[in-house]
Amino acid sequence: MKILVINSGSSSLKYQLFNMENESVLAKGIVERIGIDDSFLTYENGSGEEIKIEKEISNHKVGIELLIDTLLSEEYGVLKDMDEVEAVGHRVVHGGEAFAHSTIIDDQVIEEMENVADLAPLHNPPNIMGIKVCEELMPGKPQVAVFDTAFHQSMPEEAYIYALPYEYYAEYGVRRYGFHGTSHGYVAKRAAAMLDKDFAELKIITCHLGNGASVAAVKNGKSVDTSMGLTPLEGLVMGTRCGDIDPAIIPFIMDKEDITASEIDTILNKESGLYGVSGVSSDSRDVEDAAENGNHQAEAALKIFNYRVKKYIGAYAAAMGGVDAVVFTAGIGENAIDTRAKILEGLEFLGIKIDKKANDCRGREQFITTDDSAVKAMVIPTNEELVIAKDTMELVD
Ligand code: AMP
Repeated sequence: MKILVINSGSSSLKYQLFNMENESVLAKGIVERIGIDDSFLTYENGSGEEIKIEKEISNHKVGIELLIDTLLSEEYGVLKDMDEVEAVGHRVVHGGEAFAHSTIIDDQVIEEMENVADLAPLHNPPNIMGIKVCEELMPGKPQVAVFDTAFHQSMPEEAYIYALPYEYYAEYGVRRYGFHGTSHGYVAKRAAAMLDKDFAELKIITCHLGNGASVAAVKNGKSVDTSMGLTPLEGLVMGTRCGDIDPAIIPFIMDKEDITASEIDTILNKESGLYGVSGVSSDSRDVEDAAENGNHQAEAALKIFNYRVKKYIGAYAAAMGGVDAVVFTAGIGENAIDTRAKILEGLEFLGIKIDKKANDCRGREQFITTDDSAVKAMVIPTNEELVIAKDTMELVD
């Protein structure tokens, strides 16, 4: 069975074609700069060579048509006919309270997604657009939505209700939803497999540390808390997002700088985090380089980043009444050796003993604590696309 996975953003669209018999990737790539000048598609088919097709891609429909043409190309395609593709799985950022699981898409599902679009105005509309174009170009082919929020729908009320007037929740759906659920769920399950223990009996803290970053507390196989909230802005320090701040800062800065709500929103989402504090870059590698060269702000940015993750680990151990494993994933979690070490430093009281040699690893599943460490920590590369493909296969089977 072949499954196409689509992650449709406002100006870019990532895709992967899976052969589910052995869970291998037959082809993958990105359509970039949709609706902007110099648009192009990149494509890899396992031959080791990346193909770049430069073409005017004025909208998502043109982009998806081009990716279908590429998959079918006589020269470098991997399919003879689109009928070989059983179904299409779509990443959808916000499922609101309507979706606790992945689902086959029909008109009602699209309507529900449209209903919560104001909670994710930058993400849900392009996600929906990708779905509609696929329905148009591949009529009758099952489409499945896999939501970033779904895994966290198991959070108890005390974890998701903000201490605001209750009517904001009742009327506008203002509550904590959490994101990166596909990744947290996947790595938590892998952690149970690595520990050779029952997922339903473990307390796992998963740290998804990428350009966007969040932590989740996964107890007995269910998310019971996570650091992102109504939007992905809450929680950890991220590439350009501030994470947790005193909300009173917002009117204070708006007043001082004479800026609008939309301008402060941009500052908190795009000009803060590692980038805002360091003044160097949103990329942790650049910030690390600057810190090594004695840049104080860069050093501070990294320290704040690590400290925030450490605090969440402590908080979630308390929330779950203990912890069996701490997982690191995503770009920083999988690769930044020093960051992992600094986060775990000082957590010996929790039973975490880092193994420095084992921690000297990148991008592969690996325990990074000593054999006698009561609580295990591990690196687990995330694979959100594979989860989307698997959920899609299960639903259409
Ligand atoms: P993601 O959003 O998961 O793609 O992660 C992006 C983040 O991962 C960026 O801050 C990168 O600097 C970081 N990253 C990726 N590769 C490495 C690496 N080899 N070492 C340190 N950080 C890395």
